[in-house]
Amino acid sequence: ELIIDTQNLQKKYITDTVETTALAGVDLKIKRGEFVAIMGPSGCGKSTLLNILGMLDSPSSGSFKFLGQEVANVSERQRAKLRKENLGFVFQSFNLIDELTVEENIALPLAYLGYSKSETEKRTLQAMERMGIAHRRNHFPQQLSGGQQQRAAIARAVVSEPALILADEPTGNLDSVHGREVMQLLSELNDAGTTVVMVTHSPTDAEYAHRIVNLFDGQIVTENLNVKRHAAE
Ligand code: ADP
Ligand code: ADP
Repeated sequence: ELIIDTQNLQKKYITDTVETTALAGVDLKIKRGEFVAIMGPSGCGKSTLLNILGMLDSPSSGSFKFLGQEVANVSERQRAKLRKENLGFVFQSFNLIDELTVEENIALPLAYLGYSKSETEKRTLQAMERMGIAHRRNHFPQQLSGGQQQRAAIARAVVSEPALILADEPTGNLDSVHGREVMQLLSELNDAGTTVVMVTHSPTDAEYAHRIVNLFDGQIVTENLNVKRHAAE
């Protein structure tokens, strides 16, 4: 089953004087259960691609099917629903809300989905325990280490049990020890069935993926299967 299926995806940014081609025809198929790393030099279109896959931005042309549905044919409202029900986002800068505690941050996606108070408490606690952050539930983000903040952010991304996690440089602000811890957690989520698509500059992070997609100037130039991960299955 394909979670993501793009064909000849293009994205142009137009400002007053210049037109920039960020994506120049991307064909990308991602099956349920895969862990895909997207790599490439700065400016090659990684963030643009991730934003389109996350339905935060629209392509200029081409086809993007999410779970079999052509996203361009879906209303804005329906798209927001698809996003909330099926996607979890993890960012380099964590993007937790400073005014809310860890527990409140993690519970937020469930509030949007209309879960009851008791169901929200139960699921939030499960996600916090899974990410080893339950002991910091009443702390505010600024009181946590970078590694703890990212674990809380991952708990928030998975609390609604999305089919797909999109991660943009998830270890970019972490030292190597906490970076590895975060990759281990993403890997465990993937082993449990969640599809993961991650943008990274780190070859060490990419080792956790099944497949590495290399972008250059807005196009996929090479794709490599990670032999180690594939052999293990
Ligand atoms: P990467 O994530 O690989 O660094 P991006 O997707 O951010 O690449 O950018 C791809 C290209 O599109 C770059 O040339 C960048 O300058 C341009 N770009 C990205 N976002 C915008 C924007 N909002 N307006 C204009 N140009 C943009
Ligand atoms: P960090 O080293 O990232 O700053 P902590 O000091 O919170 O984080 O915890 C280090 C590790 O020990 C984490 O992986 C966390 O899962 C685990 N841990 C620490 N305290 C507890 C606790 N009270 N309950 C469960 N796990 C804990």
